[in-house]
Amino acid sequence: MVKNKHVGIVGAGASGCICAYYLLQSGCEVTIFEKGMPLGTLIPTGGGRCNLAHAEYDFRELAKNYPRGEKFLYSVFSKFSTEDTITLFENLGVKTYTQEDGRIFPTSNSSKDVREKILSSIANAEIVREKVISAAHVNDGYKIKTNKAEYYFRYLVIATGGGTVLEGIKHNIIPFKPSLTGLRTNIKTLSGVVLKNVYSKDIKATGDILFTHFGISGPLVYKISSVNARKDFPYQLQFNLYDGEFDFQGKLNNNPHKMLKNILSEIFPQRFAEYTSGDLSETEGCRITGRQRDNISDKIHNFYLDISGTNKGEETVTSGGYDLKEINPKTLESKNNPKLYIIGEALDIDGFCGGFNLQNAWSTAYQASEAINNA
Ligand SMILES: Cc1cc2nc3c(=O)[nH]c(=O)nc-3n(C[C@H](O)[C@H](O)[C@H](O)COP(=O)(O)OP(=O)(O)OC[C@H]3O[C@@H](n4cnc5c(N)ncnc54)[C@H](O)[C@@H]3O)c2cc1C
Repeated sequence: MVKNKHVGIVGAGASGCICAYYLLQSGCEVTIFEKGMPLGTLIPTGGGRCNLAHAEYDFRELAKNYPRGEKFLYSVFSKFSTEDTITLFENLGVKTYTQEDGRIFPTSNSSKDVREKILSSIANAEIVREKVISAAHVNDGYKIKTNKAEYYFRYLVIATGGGTVLEGIKHNIIPFKPSLTGLRTNIKTLSGVVLKNVYSKDIKATGDILFTHFGISGPLVYKISSVNARKDFPYQLQFNLYDGEFDFQGKLNNNPHKMLKNILSEIFPQRFAEYTSGDLSETEGCRITGRQRDNISDKIHNFYLDISGTNKGEETVTSGGYDLKEINPKTLESKNNPKLYIIGEALDIDGFCGGFNLQNAWSTAYQASEAINNA
């Protein structure tokens, strides 16, 4: 057992706290700096239920759920992946269950409960409620400056989450972009409309789209925002709104006096049926020409949306962060800064919805703690 290593951790979020847990277990002394509420970031996860992992037990398959970081995570997940997460939480007194869609939750369905269990497991760590401003490499260790004082540690872990950079660390930063978020479009009149089983031709995936007062949202949109997180705005998205059998001409023939919007409402919500039939909305079925039918049909199967940006503040994760090229994936140690480890969302790693981002936090936390123990 390693004794008397004193490790400083910046950030008492998911990754910082679990790194502290493993370090304490192996006899290290741990000081965590937190500018806000310790593990406060866990409370809203999974809508308050804490979707802490995903039931993908093959680590290579698991890594495919990260648009940024897939290759880097091979090495991390080969050491600590879904099964280890379940064991970790069992050891913390948190039993878990798997939902039909593969998402793993605590049986309590309470992120507050998970937070309490983690915090009580690190009761022996010192938590300093100060904001770290900078870190500088001095005398074989790191001097960190907070808003109140200065501290020195031989080993330092950066676990600051997305969108934060400490001054003084020589490390390339990939610019931050919002991910897993709603997207802004020019259509504002469909707020509240939900389209089911829509196929995104851009990311080749099916899901629902929710129109909001600023644009579109929902799981499919979140995934698109993630895949496209580094794409410049504006860009265009293409959808097939109806993948099933729909004998459009047959419907027109059988409903000669029905208005087009009412014919289309068989497959779409009424407001969307009106929107998509446009000027022909109140035209009877028998009056729709072959050309008009084909135009409408084309609009349904090749529906375009102009995307002008993301909905600010809705993002679940941040793409970008400490450049992976300058980090050893086996240890999470910065190549330019010996004994400095970077974990969790602070890394240029982000995953899809479904428990993948917390999995990154747990796995990188474990890997860094192991590396510090072995250093
Ligand atoms: C609403 C919402 C729901 C989510 N739901 C899920 C989910 O169900 N499943 C999932 O896998 N992921 C989910 N995520 C993403 C997940 O919460 C994050 O990816 C994860 O918390 C990242 O862990 P982390 O330790 O890297 O960073 P964080 O948990 O963000 O922790 C970083 C900590 O560092 C502190 N800090 C930052 N800078 C400083 C500084 N300079 N000095 C001192 N302290 C500092 C912050 O205050 C924070 O406490 C969700 C995110 C959000 C916003």
